[in-house]
Amino acid sequence: MKDSILVINCGSSSLKFAILANAGQETLVEGIADRLGTDESSITFKFEGKKNEIQLDVGSHKNAVDQIKSWLNSHPTIEHSLAGIGHRVVHGGETFSKSVLINQDVVTGIKKYSQFAPLHNPAHVKGIEVAFELFPGLPQVAVFDTAFHQTLAPEQYLYPIPMHFYREHHFRKYGFHGTSYRYISQRLAQIANGSDQQGVLVAHLGNGASTCAINKGKSSDTSMGITPLEGLMMGTRSGSLDPSLLSFISQAENISFESTLDILNKQSGLLGVSEISNDCRTLEEAMESGDLRAKLALDMFAARTAKHLASVATTLESIDHLVFTGGIGENSSYLRQAICNHLKALNIRIDSDINDNAPRGETLNISAKDSNTNVWVIPTNEELMIALDTISLIQH
Ligand code: ADP
Repeated sequence: MKDSILVINCGSSSLKFAILANAGQETLVEGIADRLGTDESSITFKFEGKKNEIQLDVGSHKNAVDQIKSWLNSHPTIEHSLAGIGHRVVHGGETFSKSVLINQDVVTGIKKYSQFAPLHNPAHVKGIEVAFELFPGLPQVAVFDTAFHQTLAPEQYLYPIPMHFYREHHFRKYGFHGTSYRYISQRLAQIANGSDQQGVLVAHLGNGASTCAINKGKSSDTSMGITPLEGLMMGTRSGSLDPSLLSFISQAENISFESTLDILNKQSGLLGVSEISNDCRTLEEAMESGDLRAKLALDMFAARTAKHLASVATTLESIDHLVFTGGIGENSSYLRQAICNHLKALNIRIDSDINDNAPRGETLNISAKDSNTNVWVIPTNEELMIALDTISLIQH
């Protein structure tokens, strides 16, 4: 039976993939091609509990998809079960407010929004074109990170700059992590009856991090902007700051605006403040062995996350649920506690025992008995959303 979906997530130098079967419930094989564009690239397949790494002679997206196809050739049952391909696409601008079957117009649209996602969208186009070439019979679907936030009202998505920038250039807040937020909203509705008619705050905290307010199932505000640089302090991104700093930094270092933006995107955040690492786990270990820089970076991350939760909450009528997700949100009990310590004025409180002992990878309610808001840890599953959207679009 043709019921499995190949999910592809192309980054500028990586390609993550998974094949999901049984309406997305079962992962048959998954893996990642890394360091594409260098001569040290490789692709890893995780299948039946074993990992197998293959070096790539040519580290290109095409070669990576070629390897996936060869792997499928040697696993014909899985190959014959493929019904379609779902691609994660970072930027869909104002054109794409939901997932779509890919045709030439869609590819042109994705190319157009490369101006706002210059590292990601061109890589997605490559992935899509190669997949069409190597899997000619299979329908393909694009699932956009920005789509879920197309429900924001103009007073939330417009920047307070001269309106002609929006009219002529579409400069506005778009927001990201939308596929994760849509999954969390649907998953929460399964475990907290009626949450789709309530106010929900979500903190998606990974290497990239953002917050979202979901009012009655629809995104009403989010912390990221025209690019993922706005909002929270992240692994290597500064998040929001006084834009005048751009000019001060570029003058102080005698560098261009582009190089200054590079500092804000790649050398700031947890990495910039701690001067140790962008990785939360590494910083927690350093903090535990007494490193004050690591503690400062983590505490700043918590303070700024809380601020951006409170900020997006202004679009809700009530804060009925707060969900932590993403690698940090799902695993760092220290940061969940530190963030909630800043939200006491909103009467959001968690039970420290339950929080400290939260089992990895599980959905859990960690609220304290006297909390106004239900606080949850919910593992996100963007691949599942992409697979489900693909199934639903190819069946029509
Ligand atoms: P992205 O998808 O944005 O690249 P992830 O959602 O995978 O990122 O999250 C990566 C982050 O999660 C890293 O900072 C990592 O240290 C952190 N993380 C993963 N596991 C743990 C853990 N057990 N404790 C603390 N942080 C963790």
